[in-house]
Amino acid sequence: MTSLLIKGLQKTTLIDYPGKVAATIFVGKCNFRCGFCYNKDLVVDYDKLPTLKEEEILDFLKSRKKWLDGVCISGGEPTMHKELPEFIKKIKEIGLLVKLDTNGVNPSMLRELIDKKLVDYVAMDIKGPLDKYSITAGVKVDKEKIKESVDILMKSNVDYEFRTTVVPGLLDNGDFEKIGKWLKGAKRYFLQQFKPDKKCIDKSYADKKPLPAGKLEEFKKILNPYFEEVGVRGV
Ligand code: SF4
Repeated sequence: MTSLLIKGLQKTTLIDYPGKVAATIFVGKCNFRCGFCYNKDLVVDYDKLPTLKEEEILDFLKSRKKWLDGVCISGGEPTMHKELPEFIKKIKEIGLLVKLDTNGVNPSMLRELIDKKLVDYVAMDIKGPLDKYSITAGVKVDKEKIKESVDILMKSNVDYEFRTTVVPGLLDNGDFEKIGKWLKGAKRYFLQQFKPDKKCIDKSYADKKPLPAGKLEEFKKILNPYFEEVGVRGV
């Protein structure tokens, strides 16, 4: 049995899992190439990072069980790995909640994780309206898979959110109108402020200025009618 490709561990976070004290596990490899992604090490150069042993991570989680509510599994794209469900099962046996961050490319694994009650919260990235997906994700995207993941979450009983990084120059008012119409009726949608970073996959994003907070508020107003809750993060 192979192990999950774990490339990082943040021992405590108060922000990754809404309302919970959590640890975050970073899984290597992603099939998207979002230019604004600042996890280049995990996405492109993951084989240069040391792989952490599953047992070490599980031992750490056991030792912190009293202080942690849950674990975030982030990346990279965790659902690219067939080992993910088995690994999460081991976390659930410790008695911790599990939040999954995903770009939605693997609806069948998402369904399995939800059906087997292996995830308690799912945060799915929405890279833009479907007609811009391949531009924002930097690769040709199978949009049927993205649509299927959205449908699975909206019809499930699992707690979830959709979220979009607001990248300057990529998305405009009309795009958020389209996103609202597409995801209409969803529980939670978050706009996340873009942060320029030297390590962005597309180096030109290193110097791009984030949009002013007022512009994110304008997008929020467009989105409000379509969701139970719309939030803005990172401004
Ligand atoms: S931002 Fe894009 S490239 Fe980076 S991990 Fe997420 S989906 Fe992959």
